[in-house]
Amino acid sequence: MFKALVMEKAGDDAPAKAHIREIDTQDLPEGEVTVAVEYSTVNYKDGLCLSPKGGGLVRKYPHVPGIDFAGRVEESTDARYAPGDRVVLTGWRVGEVHWGGYAQKARVKADWLVPLPEGLSTEDAMAVGTAGFTAMLAVMALEDHGLSPEKGEVLVTGAAGGVGSVATAILGQLGYQVAGVTGRPETADYLTALGASRIVARDEINTTTKRPLEAETWAGAVDAVGGEMLARVLGQMRYGASVAAVGLAGGAALPATVIPFLLRGVNLLGIDSVMKPFADRQRAWDRIATDLPVDKLQSMITRASLEDLPRLGADILEGRVRGRVLVDLG
Ligand code: NDP
Repeated sequence: MFKALVMEKAGDDAPAKAHIREIDTQDLPEGEVTVAVEYSTVNYKDGLCLSPKGGGLVRKYPHVPGIDFAGRVEESTDARYAPGDRVVLTGWRVGEVHWGGYAQKARVKADWLVPLPEGLSTEDAMAVGTAGFTAMLAVMALEDHGLSPEKGEVLVTGAAGGVGSVATAILGQLGYQVAGVTGRPETADYLTALGASRIVARDEINTTTKRPLEAETWAGAVDAVGGEMLARVLGQMRYGASVAAVGLAGGAALPATVIPFLLRGVNLLGIDSVMKPFADRQRAWDRIATDLPVDKLQSMITRASLEDLPRLGADILEGRVRGRVLVDLG
């Protein structure tokens, strides 16, 4: 038996509610690898899966949310994994369609796992989590499109959130000048310690402008917000620069014009972490192990247990979570 947070419904139309339950290992879904989960986290999507309607992501109840986890292999019928191996899982709709990481055990497909690189503990991996992994993918995409520190200042939107915090820390560590956009001025010291060299107030950018092009300001951008923020940022990019579109914390609409693409050769790079092929995942985790200092990770995390998750799920949907939440399953 092991402990899990289970979302349950009293009837088809009833709201889903969280309960802490003891579950039998034999009730785990099918999969080649059973993992003793040590840590999970709280991402924006987890907030949706913990909500009464499952955010439109959860298909079937009872359901164990948790879109990412790290732990040790307990049993494996796949030759790539043996008991004791340290592994991390993000994406593949685990925690949405499949049972996820808010439990002391998980059973998943071997293809979904990534072996943890040396130097990264299961705790570090989940301090990073899906949000941080995605931030790394965004930085890699910008670099692949020509970004380097001497090109100029890089903008990170939603900077005090999970994706934004890790993006700020990675870029700072790599020697970039980072401007962090936040709607929470009280996080300025936190962001500066992570690596931001400038704090930009959300209101300065999150307003519509009638001009499709403004002063060429940013050499690159990691955008966790979308909506009007992304539309405005596109018009502020330097010639040939790229924006990595990661999230929609501020809205899914994109009220922009194509002018920045046509007149400034600006690139809009889509970042998906869920279906990313294995080789890219491995490359990103290797980069995380080398480019993200552990002290910065420590300053980002709030520790939590399964019991805290319903509250934290609501908090992240309201933009009240700073940095990353580490859920200890021990
Ligand atoms: P967080 O809630 O931790 O961070 C989002 C941040 O965005 C907030 O902290 C806040 O930052 C800012 N924000 C929130 N609401 C608004 C608003 N209305 N207008 C402007 N800014 C706002 O979430 P995550 O970092 O976990 O995820 C960020 C986004 O990235 C989400 O939309 C998530 O779904 C997406 N995502 C996408 C992935 C992919 O594969 N593409 C993977 C992981 C996440 P501040 O307080 O500093 O202003």
